[in-house]
Amino acid sequence: MGNWKGGNPYGGNWEWGVGVGTALPLPFPLPLPLPFPALVFPHFSFPTSHFPDVSRYRSLILDVDSTLCGIEGVDWLARRRGPDVARRIAETTDRAMSGEIPVEAVYGERLALVLPSRRDVSDLAQAYRDALAPGAADTIHALRAAGVRVVLVSGGLRQAILPVALELGFAEGDLHAVDVRWHESGEYAGFDGTSPLTTQHGKLDVVRSAALPEPALAVGDGATDLAMRPAVAAFAAFTGFVRRDTVVLGADYVCGSFGDLLALAMP
Ligand SMILES: [Mg+2]
Repeated sequence: MGNWKGGNPYGGNWEWGVGVGTALPLPFPLPLPLPFPALVFPHFSFPTSHFPDVSRYRSLILDVDSTLCGIEGVDWLARRRGPDVARRIAETTDRAMSGEIPVEAVYGERLALVLPSRRDVSDLAQAYRDALAPGAADTIHALRAAGVRVVLVSGGLRQAILPVALELGFAEGDLHAVDVRWHESGEYAGFDGTSPLTTQHGKLDVVRSAALPEPALAVGDGATDLAMRPAVAAFAAFTGFVRRDTVVLGADYVCGSFGDLLALAMP
C-alpha cells in the first residue's frame, strides 16, 4: 500500500511511498497544485483514499456569521429589541454584507441601537453554539489533522464567538473578532473601535498581519470576506445559509456546505 510520510507538502524532505518499505526520496520542491501521484509518476494511479491527509491549502480562514454558524450575531441581538429595530438592523446588515454600504458606516450605529448587555452576549454565545453549521466540526478537525492552520476572522463580537471557537479547539489567538465592553453593571459600554474588523477591508488587514502559512483559502458569505481575496490563494463563497450574488461573482469557488469545503480543500 502506498504511504505518504510527513505532514507538510511544501516543506521539503519528503518521502514518496510506492509500496511497503520502498519509500523513495523526493529531493526537489513539489509543485503546486498538490503533487498527486500522476504528476510525479505519470503511469502510477493510486486511489486518493491512500492520501487522506493531504490538503491543497496550508491555512483556512473562516468567517463566522452565516458561515461557521447559521446566524448573524447582531441581527440575533436586534430581535430582542422588538420588530422595528430587528428589521432596520437586518436590512442594514444585508446591505453591508452585499457591499452596498461600507461596514464602518454602520458598525457602531447597529450596536448603539441594540446596546448588547453582558447577558445578551452570553445568550448569543449559546445561540452561536446551537447554530453551528452541519459538518463544520468534522471539516475543521479533518483539516487540522492534515496540518492545516484554521483561523476564524469575524466582524462579530469576540465574547459571543469565543465559546463555540473554544469548543471547536481554536486557540484564543486564532479567533480574530471585535471586543465588546460593558460597565460593571453589565450594561453595554461600547466596542473596540480600533479594530480593523469594524471596517469594510479590515479582514484583509488582519489576514495580512497574521502571516498565515501559504497557500491560504478564505471562506465566507459577505463582501468583507471577499475583501480578503488579494491576501489569499483562493476565496470560496459560502452559500450554505445566505447566497449573495456580488460575493459569488467575485469568488474562485462556491461552497454550499462544509462537506463541499472539505472536498475543495482535500480533493
Ligand atoms: Mg458572514
